This record gives sequence, structure tokens and C-alpha cells, in this order.
Amino acid sequence: MGFKKHLSSLKSYEAGKPIELVIRDYGIRQKDIIKLASNENPLGTSKKVIKAIKKEAKNSYRYPDDSMFELKKSLAKKYKVDSKNIIIGQGSDQIIELLVQATCGSEDKILTSSLTFAMYEIYASHNQAKVLKTKDGVHNADQFIEIYQKSKPNLVFLCIPNNPLGDCLDRSEVYRILDSISSDTIVALDCAYGEFAAYKDKNKEIKPKEIIKKYKNCIYLGTFSKLYGLGGLRIGYGIADSNFIEMLSKLRAPFNITNLSLKAAIIALEDSTFLKNSLKNNFKEMKVYEDFAKSKNIDFIESYTNFITFMLPKSIDSSSLCEYLLKQGVIIRDLKSYGINAIRITIGLREQNKTTIKLIDKYLKR
Ligand SMILES: *Cc1c(COP(=O)(O)O)cnc(C)c1O
Repeated sequence: MGFKKHLSSLKSYEAGKPIELVIRDYGIRQKDIIKLASNENPLGTSKKVIKAIKKEAKNSYRYPDDSMFELKKSLAKKYKVDSKNIIIGQGSDQIIELLVQATCGSEDKILTSSLTFAMYEIYASHNQAKVLKTKDGVHNADQFIEIYQKSKPNLVFLCIPNNPLGDCLDRSEVYRILDSISSDTIVALDCAYGEFAAYKDKNKEIKPKEIIKKYKNCIYLGTFSKLYGLGGLRIGYGIADSNFIEMLSKLRAPFNITNLSLKAAIIALEDSTFLKNSLKNNFKEMKVYEDFAKSKNIDFIESYTNFITFMLPKSIDSSSLCEYLLKQGVIIRDLKSYGINAIRITIGLREQNKTTIKLIDKYLKR
């Protein structure tokens, strides 16, 4: 058939196991399932957002405002930038896709850390671009700078904080990397968990306004899928110099965001109580996992996100632990497919975390 040759060797993204699969395969009732696998907000979706979506539903027959005027205005106000500096995507994932498409072909290279968000490499492979990786999984500024200078990739992804490890470069380190990169190389700062990092440590806060003023080759990526609790509505954004946004927008399909998603995102930005409660729960409960890991001598990476990653000793196999939890209705993320014996747990609500920890403890004591 007439498909492009490289398609046959492409790998697709392995998403966290959906709840429906656990109901089907393990016969567990929906209400007994605890899903801590995809870094969703355990508080759910803000009530104010749900109300707004219901109200907006009657406009479903209309095409959305393709200029996305209202949401851009809200984001521009929040970040103190101009609407011309903003692009909206179907999740920040779509903006990552557009970025790779806009910059890379078979002659080109992208640079990432060796353990990071899988979509960078997947979109690179769609475009037949080569992926260069730093030696360490956690982000290391010196390693990024060294490979950049040696191999001159034309696209660099910094995931700050980094999924699936949870590590996070200081802002000063990010600037050190940006200062070493020439203006004809595009840099994406993927800040899907940026709100969590900024809450925990001010030195980790990336300010889009500062970034786009100093670095015309750099784009800040944010999402409504994590802290804002809108993963199912698929909405994210990029903030960059207006020329950068103009170029990227040429590849965006019209009406790529639904009316409901646009409305939901605008209201989600305003519900500061919901956001504050989400952040508070996250770091209070993170501590419970840290204490548990310490008591069991399990290594973990200090996390600036809404998940924690346990680096397991050889004696504990990540896949069999995950399988054990799955049979009891607890879904977490096995990182075996990343080539490490580790698990990633999204920080849930108190009771969910208690159950999860109890089950891991039980597994360890078998
Ligand atoms: C979740 C995530 C995204 C994108 O999420 P969307 O739902 O597509 O907005 C991007 N980068 C990282 C590192 C993520 O973890």
C-alpha cells in the first residue's frame, strides 16, 4: 500500500491503563478502582467549570471562535503577555506535534533528556528526525549544553519539571541552557507541571513574560490537563514571541478546540480556591509517599509535580508490583517501558493514597 515507508517501524504512545480496561479484565467495580496512573487531578473537575460547561452545551451547534479571543485574553492577563503571544492546542501535546512538524525533517535532530516525556521522540519519529539524548535521565544543564554545542540539534525539549521522573531544573539553570543556544535553534520549555514546581519552590518558577522577551526562539508550553483538572477536554497552550506564534499557527487546523473546552478553560483559570486546594492536597500527600519510601529504603526522586517516582531495588520488579496492584483495582504507572525498574504514582486523595501504600506494603511483605 501507499503508506510512507517509515510508518511500519513507528511506535505509538503507551497511555496509562484506562479504568474501563480494569473493569473488563479484572471484574472490579468502577467505584472500587483507584486510578493514579495519568497525573490527573484527584479532586476532579472544579464545580464551577462543570456548571459553565452545562450552560455552554446549548451552543454546541456553533463552530467555536477560531481566534479563541476570550481564552487568549484570560491567559494573556494571567501571564502579562499579549494575545498575539499565545497559541491554543488540543492539549499541549498538539503544540508539541506542531513544533516538531514545523522544525524537523529527516535531516534534523532534536535534543532531550534520556528519560522524559515520550511524545517528543514519537513526534520526532513521525518526521524522521533523529533524537539525541543526554546521559542522565534527570535534566542536567551541562549535559544539554555539551551535546548542543557538539551536535547542533535544531529543536531542544526541556521538560521542567520532568515527567516521568519528577526532577526540575532551577530557573537559573534553564537560563544558562537558553543562553548557550543560538537563536536559530528552537527551544520548548514543557511546563505541564510548572504550577506545582512554582508552588513548592520559587526558584523553579518559569515566567513566560521573561522568557519571550529575552529568547525569541523559545516557547513556553502549559496545559489544563494536570492542575486544572481538564485532561478530558484536551486543551493546552504555548506562549512565545509573536513571530514564533505566527509561524506555528500556520500548521494549526481551524476549530481545533471545542466551545466546551474553551469555556471550561476560562472558568478553570478563575477558580483559585480549587487550584489552591489541589496544590495543598498534592504536597501534603506527597510527604506521605516520601515517608513510606524512606521507611522501606526505596529510592525516590524529589518531585516538583503531582506524581512521585520510586526507583525500585532489583529485588522488587516494577511490572509484577503493578500487576499485583492492578488486580486489586489500583492503577499506577509501570516505567519498565522507559527501560527502568521504577513506578510512577500520581498523588491522589488521602484515602486513595492510604490504600495504595497499604497494598504496596503488603506486596513487599509477601
Ligand atoms: C501531560 C503532559 C503533557 C501534555 O498534556 P496535554 O493533555 O496534551 O495537554 C505535556 N508534557 C508533559 C511532560 C506531560 O506530562
